[in-house]
This record gives sequence, C-alpha cells and structure tokens, in this order.
Amino acid sequence: MTEPLSFVHPTPESPWGTYLMQVDRVAPYLGHLSRWIDTLKRPKRALIVDIPVELDDGTIAHYEGYRVQHNLSRGPGKGGVRYHPDVTLEEVMALSAWMSIKNAAVNLPYGGAKGGIRIDPKKHSIKELERITRRYTSEIGIIIGPQQDIPAPDVNTNAQIMAWMMDTYSMNTGATATGVVTGKPIHLGGSLGRVKATGRGVFVTGREAARRINLDLQGARVAVQGFGNVGSAAAELFGQAGAKIVAAQDHTGTIYNANGFDLSELMPHVKATGGVGGFKGAEVMGNEEFWDVDCEILIPAALEGQITADRARRVKAKMVLEGANGPTVPSADDILADRGILVVPDVICNAGGVTVSYFEWVQDFSSFFWTEDEINVRLDKIMVGALKRIWEVADQHHITLRTATFTVSCERILQARVERGLYP
Ligand code: GLU
Repeated sequence: MTEPLSFVHPTPESPWGTYLMQVDRVAPYLGHLSRWIDTLKRPKRALIVDIPVELDDGTIAHYEGYRVQHNLSRGPGKGGVRYHPDVTLEEVMALSAWMSIKNAAVNLPYGGAKGGIRIDPKKHSIKELERITRRYTSEIGIIIGPQQDIPAPDVNTNAQIMAWMMDTYSMNTGATATGVVTGKPIHLGGSLGRVKATGRGVFVTGREAARRINLDLQGARVAVQGFGNVGSAAAELFGQAGAKIVAAQDHTGTIYNANGFDLSELMPHVKATGGVGGFKGAEVMGNEEFWDVDCEILIPAALEGQITADRARRVKAKMVLEGANGPTVPSADDILADRGILVVPDVICNAGGVTVSYFEWVQDFSSFFWTEDEINVRLDKIMVGALKRIWEVADQHHITLRTATFTVSCERILQARVERGLYP
C-alpha cells in the first residue's frame, strides 16, 4: 500500500479528490493491471515556480506557476496552461491527470500534463501578460519541449500566449521549435480548426450520444454554461444541427429565451462585450435558476465542480455534455446516473481540442499543413471511434460512460507502464 501524498489535501468534492474517486471506481475492471493502479494516484512530476515580474507601474510582483506531468508512459506530456486567480497545485494535478485519461481515451501518443498561473489576467495589461508568460515559460523550460511536454491553451489563455511561449522557448534553446506548444496562430505553425476543435468535439460526441438514446437534435433545447471558446463553438454547431440554445451563463450573467437565441446576433454581442450579459434578444435569469431550465441537453463548459448534488437533483436535461474539465462532483454523478440522465464525461466529450493539438504537432514536424476539411473529417472519425469503444465497455460491464472511459484509458496507460517496465 502506498501512503497518500503529503503535499495536497483533497476533499471528496475537490478536483484531486474527485479524480481519485473516479480512479477507484475502475479498479474492479482492470484485471491484472489493477496491481499498478497507485501509479495513477500520484503525478510523476510536479514543478512549482515563482514568477517575478515588473508591473507597468514599476512595482515588483510575484506569482505562483505550475507545470504538472501526471503520467508519461504513453508519450510526452500534453495539456493546456490555465491563467486564473483560483489556480492551485491540487487543481493543476487533477487537470493533468484528466489529460492522461483523455489522451488515452482518444488513443493519442501522449501522457498527461497541465500548467497554470495563479493570476487574474483581466487585471493585467498585454505587456504585463507577455512578461508573465515569458518568465513562466523560461521557468518551466527545464521540463517542456516538443518531445517532452507540449503545453496548449486552456481557460484564459489563447494563440497569442502560445506564440510568446513558443518564441521564449525557441530563444532559450537557440532554434525555432514550433512543436513545443499547440494552439498557436496559423502563420506560426498553428492548425486550421484548432480554435473550434473542443466545441466541435463536444458536438460530435453529443450528436452520437443523442443518436444512441433516440434524442432528435432538431428542436432540442440546449443550455450552455460558459460561453468562451468551448461553449460558444458547441452552441453554434448545435444551432446549425437544428437545436435551440435556450439558456446561456457566464461570468457576465445568465440569459434565457424559450424560443432559442438568434446566434447570428448573440455571437457578435459576446465578441464585442466579452460575455452574454446585456444581450437584447433574451430575458435575464438568476444565476442559480440556470440549473432548473427546461432543456434536453445541458453543456457545462466553464470550470470544475459546477454540478453539485443539489444541482444534479434539479437538472431537467436528458443528456449532460461535459465541455469543461471536471464539472461534475462524484455525488452529483451518482444522482444523475440514478435519475437516468446520460453524462458524456469530459475525458471524451472535450477531447476534440487535444486531438487537433495532436494534428498541429504532427503538421509542425512534417512542415506540411492540412486543409480545415481534412482536420474536421479526421477529428470526427477519431471522436466517433473512441466513443464507440467506450460505449461497448459501458454496455459490457453496465457502468457509466465515465467509468467506461476511465477503464479504457487506465488499461491503455497501465499496459504501457507494464510493457516499459519498472526502472531500475
Ligand atoms: N486545454 C485543453 C484540454 O483541457 C487542450 C489541451 C491540449 O490541446 O493540449 O483538453
């Protein structure tokens, strides 16, 4: 038996506590591999860095930065970098572990990693963000690299931040290394289709799940929490498939329209104002009321821990598509399952982003770039195939899609672990 880690103090509903419980649930299905399960319960490597910067007003500030490599058995680390005032080591550890599971679920040749800086990017100028990003990249430079660990965008990070990371790493190593990060601007080795890939993956897995449970997307009502990169792209695709987006929530407010929003007006509004709040074509709703909305599809696409036990009892949807990482706590997961509400879990539902990150990385190595159509067709094929396998495992053992995804992924990761062997 291995002792619990001394450097985090998870609770049943905190991100790492949630992840540990999810891993415990797969143990009965792992056969001889279950002997290795503790491997998954501790990160391989966790780097904490101090980021000192001079702010525009001349003061010196220090920020906490992290890069955690949860597991590298199947290949280099892969996962995003998050800028948020609530980032902690525990959160980044959980996010890195979910990346291990996610990358294995879609069979990408990657391990799992994640990074973050504990800052509120809204409180910084562009120049300050650039200095913070560059110093962070230099500090984690000792463990990242195109063959070691490849960061990407996550909450509050974007193509510009990836460009600064790529440039800083390249300056430090003496050669342009486009493959060190993904989610870059197109003319710096980025990939077509990457920005919308996570939302597209949410749509593709949602479309397949709907087909399997006989839910018609035509006229289906959709509620979306988080209208950033993931939520807005998914909403757009569901809208194109005939669904109605009836509710949306983000940090600027909650809006509702029983007939569905006019997305051709909502999208530019969000772009111009930074959120859904103040949109003319909708009623304002209380933030907590969002969880009571009549809908067929609920898409949490914001942060962790949003679907609590209390909210899970109120959800009206037939299907929950986890665009965010870790939006459902384990007690809520059980309530949703008991109520017959299908959950397509984060570790497959939002894997479209990292799948196109993989395409970007491959394109960077070959310096040969694909069309957007090629990207989208390949993405669709990978997501459909991965979900099919997960569904088979769920049916075979009568388990939820989450436990089935963890079963498929943990098997792949631990099989690689065993084949590589324990060194020394
Ligand atoms: N941050 C995204 C995620 O959580 C993408 C990671 C990547 O592309 O490496 O899946």
